[in-house]
Amino acid sequence: PARSSGANATTILAVANQKGGVGKTTTAINLATALAAVERTVLLIDLDPQGNASTGMGIDRAARRRSIYDVLCGTATLADAAVTTEIPGLDLVPSTVDLSGADLELVGEDRRSYRLQQAVRDDRMTGHYDYVLIDCPPSLSLLTVNALVAAHRVIVPLQCEFFALEGLSLLLHTIEQVRKGFNPGLEIDGIVLTMYDRRNRLSDQVADDVREHLGDKVYTTIIPRNVRVSEAPSHGKPALLYDHRCVGSQAYMKLAAELLNRNRPSPAPTTRAA
Ligand code: ADP
Ligand code: MG
Repeated sequence: PARSSGANATTILAVANQKGGVGKTTTAINLATALAAVERTVLLIDLDPQGNASTGMGIDRAARRRSIYDVLCGTATLADAAVTTEIPGLDLVPSTVDLSGADLELVGEDRRSYRLQQAVRDDRMTGHYDYVLIDCPPSLSLLTVNALVAAHRVIVPLQCEFFALEGLSLLLHTIEQVRKGFNPGLEIDGIVLTMYDRRNRLSDQVADDVREHLGDKVYTTIIPRNVRVSEAPSHGKPALLYDHRCVGSQAYMKLAAELLNRNRPSPAPTTRAA
């Protein structure tokens, strides 16, 4: 498995939006790959029963002996369930269809919202990763709540289309509820605009609108709509491995740089001589 220098604490990021098809999985896979490319160690957790992140990373169903479902049920640790990927420094905890039943199975269980937090905040399991990225399902289910309770920060992908902001207030409200009830340190790292089409004036309008509403919460980097990015998953590869020069891959490299910059600890205050 991937090993970091161990010099820094692990940062846990949830990639969340209850809308489907906005670019959560694409962002989780390619941001994880971009961070690994700049020598961070990363654990990508596939928390969607559809398993798109697992498939997109080339982990076929036969290879998924243990999954995040087993971790949530307490029958496996993250270390048991993690598999290596083609990308050095990037490991993955796959999902299986069992996960679609987890919501119901966990109802009534003690501390059901903390299942993932218990697993990922255990330094013996994740302490050697610089980043843990959680790819959430398209719902505000108990699975997404588990991701938000486990995370330090949230990344929200928003598709550059007419209804981009619709549903966002519900997501922000949910994040606020989780912060109040379960995870006081939870913060939004940033909102990332995805599938931007510069030939479409609506894309620009949406981008301006989102910036007007959400200001500096929006990453400067915009992910363009790019056919290479959409082709990559069918080859079981991140876009960055499928075609690292395409504009989509380059945008994810920029996003990783921006994220690293945002998370850089602020310099210690210097004492000024009188
Ligand atoms: P979600 O995980 O939010 O449901 P996905 O990441 O699976 O969304 O993206 C939905 C669809 O859009 C997928 O078919 C994906 O390949 C495609 N897609 C995502 N981002 C881009 C992009 N930047 N350019 C082109 N297609 C994209
Ligand atoms: Mg997805």
